[in-house]
Amino acid sequence: MASIALKSFIGLRQASAEKPHFTIQAKPISLNPSNHRRFQVNAAKTSPKVTGRNLRVAVVGGGPAGGAAAETLAKGGIETFLIERKMDNCKPCGGAIPLCMVGEFDLPLDIIDRRVTKMKMISPSNVAVDIGQTLKPHEYIGMVRREVLDQYLRNRASENGATVINGLFLKMEKPGDGEAPYVLHYTEYDGKVGGAGVKKSLEVDAVIGADGANSRVAKSIDAGDYEYAIAFQERIKIPDDKMVYYENLAEMYVGDDVSPDFYGWVFPKCDHVAVGTGTVTHKGDIKKFQLATRNRAKDKILGGKILRVEAHPIPEHPRPRRLAGRVALVGDAAGYVTKCSGEGIYFAAKSGRMCAEAIVEGSENGKRMVNEADLRKYLEKWDKTYWPTYKVLDVLQKVFYRSNPAREAFVEMCADEYVQKMTFDSYLYKRVVPGNPWEDLKLAVNTIGSLVRANALRREMEKLNV
Ligand SMILES: Cc1cc2nc3c(=O)[nH]c(=O)nc-3n(C[C@H](O)[C@H](O)[C@H](O)COP(=O)(O)OP(=O)(O)OC[C@H]3O[C@@H](n4cnc5c(N)ncnc54)[C@H](O)[C@@H]3O)c2cc1C
Repeated sequence: MASIALKSFIGLRQASAEKPHFTIQAKPISLNPSNHRRFQVNAAKTSPKVTGRNLRVAVVGGGPAGGAAAETLAKGGIETFLIERKMDNCKPCGGAIPLCMVGEFDLPLDIIDRRVTKMKMISPSNVAVDIGQTLKPHEYIGMVRREVLDQYLRNRASENGATVINGLFLKMEKPGDGEAPYVLHYTEYDGKVGGAGVKKSLEVDAVIGADGANSRVAKSIDAGDYEYAIAFQERIKIPDDKMVYYENLAEMYVGDDVSPDFYGWVFPKCDHVAVGTGTVTHKGDIKKFQLATRNRAKDKILGGKILRVEAHPIPEHPRPRRLAGRVALVGDAAGYVTKCSGEGIYFAAKSGRMCAEAIVEGSENGKRMVNEADLRKYLEKWDKTYWPTYKVLDVLQKVFYRSNPAREAFVEMCADEYVQKMTFDSYLYKRVVPGNPWEDLKLAVNTIGSLVRANALRREMEKLNV
């Protein structure tokens, strides 16, 4: 969430999914030029009725995107199949979620390990700024373990009627014509460790690809590639007295040492901390950046024991294609992680739900066949709601993550109470907060001041050749 801090400065704040509203006029633009085609066809009126059964939809992947999609489909009267290759999957992830996700997805509080109310932003020269001082008593950033969250969402989909299959999706045969089914091939496991599994196939009318960054569904529809960051994380059990410090506190480190284009973090979990970093531009150096992140936090994690080392790609932008026929991509499979903050859990769950809603609506609760135009409504809604958010974070990354002096300026700005309020309001609630014009102006002036100082500093450093 680092860079969200600054979106108020340029007048764009995160939009509500329901009511997009921006302080500057941002024309909704499709992320994919090929998606500009508009269809006048209303599937609800023209598609044939499904007889003798309800519409069948397969969701491939049981992370937050897949779990949320499957639950919405099942509740909406769709015959739903959720295929997950590993039921105890422990997705490498910081596990930070915004407060609004707890409410919007009705998450029970006992699946949230920690409620973070303090965040330290730490500059390249180790200047630490406390953010979070403007939080109200009930506000916090949730910290979850992904194995817990994902299982909870999958279970809820199952309780609502989805058939959950422990299987590895292999490939998909596309329908020859009209309303013919998609045939999915997968290996089903019976839960026994080391079991080779049984090859099976499944006929469905539509498919949601929620199978993450290395999506096979995306490959099946030639969705194209995206640029990605590699993120590395160590889960470290630290002594109890050290854990007290991280009770409700998270840290974010910026600097060339921890990452040339991202940030390093220490996030608290139930009984350990997650220490990690990421990079797009220097993937080969990721272990060096991880070591630097650990070094920066060394006094606070001294005596720690590494429990787990994990790494995974993080998409940098949406795939060139997110939809083909009756197949749509959601979450990381589509490429919905916000640039430079690396936030993707909420957006995965939200896109899964939005895509499923489009199918439920288009099929009139499973009674009619859907077509590409129905699924496209999800993409249009998504792009209209979130495109400016992604664009703003992209710009912010370019401005503030480009050099150590710029990062010093960034951290300096984070000390501003107004920036903090705007940051947390837009991060926690994913909605627009009415700005204060006078404070906006002050912030703009301060920002320019910080950048000027940063540039002056950079020039001095260049003269000194450091
Ligand atoms: C190190 C790291 C730290 C991060 N920290 C944060 C953070 O703090 N906050 C945040 O919001 N985001 C964070 N992210 C991003 C976040 O993890 C992702 O955006 C999010 O997990 C996307 O959810 P998803 O459901 O789309 O995909 P995933 O969570 O990747 O889920 C995909 C699921 O599909 C299954 N699957 C894959 N292939 C197949 C197949 N062939 N057949 C069957 N099943 C399959 C997988 O087992 C998995 O369960 C982080 C990412 C990384 C790598």
